[in-house]
Amino acid sequence: MIMKYWPAPDSHSIDIPSPGLPGSFWEDRDDRYHCGVDIYAPEGSGVLSIEGGKVIDMGISTSPDIIPYWHKTCYVLIKNKNKPDHICKYAELGDTKVKVGDFIQAGQLIGHVGLVLDSDKITKDSPPYIQEIKKKENGSMLHFELYESPPIKTNDDGNYLGGNWFCDLKPKSLLDPTDYLFSTLNKAGP
Ligand SMILES: [Zn+2]
Repeated sequence: MIMKYWPAPDSHSIDIPSPGLPGSFWEDRDDRYHCGVDIYAPEGSGVLSIEGGKVIDMGISTSPDIIPYWHKTCYVLIKNKNKPDHICKYAELGDTKVKVGDFIQAGQLIGHVGLVLDSDKITKDSPPYIQEIKKKENGSMLHFELYESPPIKTNDDGNYLGGNWFCDLKPKSLLDPTDYLFSTLNKAGP
């Protein structure tokens, strides 16, 4: 049996936004699409690897150097051991507890939930979906993406930024992670 864990055990609910709702997969944000799902959880709460694998890449998710209303957050890419063409991206982390090349156990702590939006710097000119997130009390989340190799490399062709895709054509390797996430609930985890 493959052990699987819900990646944010302290999330406000063990659930993800329904299709079409803010934070859902491929949510249409007018000029961009949402590449993953948002799992709302307290800032600083733990993020666990869903299953065993290897850390293949890490880097910056968001930074005030890119957009002024962003705080700095990071991402971790893990290639799953069980199905090596399956790659999980854990993004918008405030800190990370692993490094590239590490072999990770199912349920291992890989980092903590960060806070992307700097409310003081959001203006009326910021995108409408950003204004909506600002209104929410719980603005911190794990942004999770799932790929069948190869994953999108951050910013490599200008279509991907901060978990969004600025083009109508969905990248072929990008998967809807809904079923995968729900499959964690009847195996192990919280
Ligand atoms: Zn997101």
